[in-house]
Amino acid sequence: MADRPQISCDAVKCTGCRICMLACSWVNTKTHNPRNSFIRVDVNEKNFACRILLDTEKCRRCLSCVSFCPSGALQAVEAENMQEGGRSNGCTA
Ligand code: SF4
Ligand code: SF4
Repeated sequence: MADRPQISCDAVKCTGCRICMLACSWVNTKTHNPRNSFIRVDVNEKNFACRILLDTEKCRRCLSCVSFCPSGALQAVEAENMQEGGRSNGCTA
């Protein structure tokens, strides 16, 4: 999968809608269960800050989460433009 785009995350743009989690669950398990998602969004209940966590071991980089993200918080980035180590930019995991 080295040639597939990576996922860049910008938690500042994230609204916490968690549509990405439903999209990932659906493409991978044909369920709408956020627990089955390889991407997780945590929302701080006090200040509403979002944290995006991508399971880079399980993610197939199908980019469904990117397609459904309504805010632009998730973006596809060509692999050669990612930082060394292949970790998806800005995603905590
Ligand atoms: S990353 Fe996008 S789809 Fe996922 S919770 Fe944030 S705004 Fe919603
Ligand atoms: S790119 Fe990864 S996290 Fe996003 S929907 Fe596909 S498998 Fe899930």
